[in-house]
Amino acid sequence: TDNIGASTVDLNQQLFDRAKTIIPGGVNSPVRAFRAVGGTPRFVQRAQGAHFWDANAKRYIDYIGSWGPMILGHGHPAVVDAVQRAVTEGFSYGAPTEREIDLAQAIIDLVPSIEMVRLVSSGTEAAMSAIRLARGATGRSKFIKFEGCYHGHADALLVKAGSGLATFGNPTSAGVPPEVVQHTLVLEYNNLTQLEEAFALHGAELACVMIEPIAGNMNFVRASVPFMKRCRELCTQHGALLVFDEVMTGFRVALGGAQSIYAKHIPGFAPDISVLGKVIGGGMPLAAFGGRRSVMEMLAPLGPVYQAGTLSGNPVATACGLATLQEISRPGFFDTLASHTRELVDGLKAAANACGVPFSADSEGGMFGFFLLPQLPQNYATVMTSDGPRFNRLFHGLLDRGVYIAPALYEAGFVSAAHSTDDIAQTVAAAREVFEAL
Ligand code: PLP
Repeated sequence: TDNIGASTVDLNQQLFDRAKTIIPGGVNSPVRAFRAVGGTPRFVQRAQGAHFWDANAKRYIDYIGSWGPMILGHGHPAVVDAVQRAVTEGFSYGAPTEREIDLAQAIIDLVPSIEMVRLVSSGTEAAMSAIRLARGATGRSKFIKFEGCYHGHADALLVKAGSGLATFGNPTSAGVPPEVVQHTLVLEYNNLTQLEEAFALHGAELACVMIEPIAGNMNFVRASVPFMKRCRELCTQHGALLVFDEVMTGFRVALGGAQSIYAKHIPGFAPDISVLGKVIGGGMPLAAFGGRRSVMEMLAPLGPVYQAGTLSGNPVATACGLATLQEISRPGFFDTLASHTRELVDGLKAAANACGVPFSADSEGGMFGFFLLPQLPQNYATVMTSDGPRFNRLFHGLLDRGVYIAPALYEAGFVSAAHSTDDIAQTVAAAREVFEAL
């Protein structure tokens, strides 16, 4: 049934037409609507391994993987089994379970900077709660975020964010009153001078610096080691907390997250609070934030910082997350994943070079990004110089050939353990054809 192609009636379009009449834009998260790239979103019927099938029963190699969570690919047997068993025991209790302790322990065992952790249901909630905790713990209001970093859609964080906001050319949302973001300082990513200036001016008022260590919401931009080192030093010096948003990079770029990579370059490096999501839920709604015991003990019911959730630590989601973490903890898992991802990135680079298309790409673990630019950008302003119309042609060329990448040039891509060398070879061959006509 692979690639039997579209029948004369486009069933994706039919579903999209129906959806648009009752769901704003026809979608429940803006980038899914293909507004930037044009065309009809693919409505997924089912997925297995590295592939999904749309309403026309056309097969795609999936490099989105639900925007990061599906690190094992779709329908991994051990995860399906864990979820099926959990479902038979009940969906949600609103009372504690042993599985929450097991998942908390698994997270703590894998991320040394986390001594205590709280489970929530989305990355937005986790990032929002981390900011509240940092403010509560320090008694300060201001915090620093960086242009092009997306930390979910809580009001105070929706300033010059990447991801969908960048895609729609409105980096700051309407409906967020200026007073709500008056304490949010937005700096250029990787800009040491601005960082020094901000601390010199506001150091004593800063609750935290929140950063995506590898920014996946402006495609794929790494914070340089000197920049990260200085972030850590300045936070410590001024009594501010360093908050790592590892919703995307956690358990994705390495088993210990991006922080384990910086720790290799910066002796003793650790953030104070980490924000997690995506992979820890294995595709179910689950996220978390955690950090040093003294900070985490500020949370209710122990301390004065309130945070709660009806579905927090959901028993089915925790089963899914635990099974996922168990699989990715197997020896060699990340070596294989990283080498497959590099194979893809190297193949794409070679194909673009052969066709004279300016192209740069990078990857870490199972996360990658590419730009139709000769060099990797270091900040959002440079990312914005990418050639949008050309990207759109590339996107549709790949889509026609059964390769599904993010429908926007501000988003990272994801390889799963289910992507075979054959999937990667097919992708590179498809890209080569598209580059030739680009
Ligand atoms: N933080 C980062 C780095 C993210 O990439 C995302 C989502 O893409 C979020 C936070 C928000 O997570 P969620 O969409 O689960 O609310």
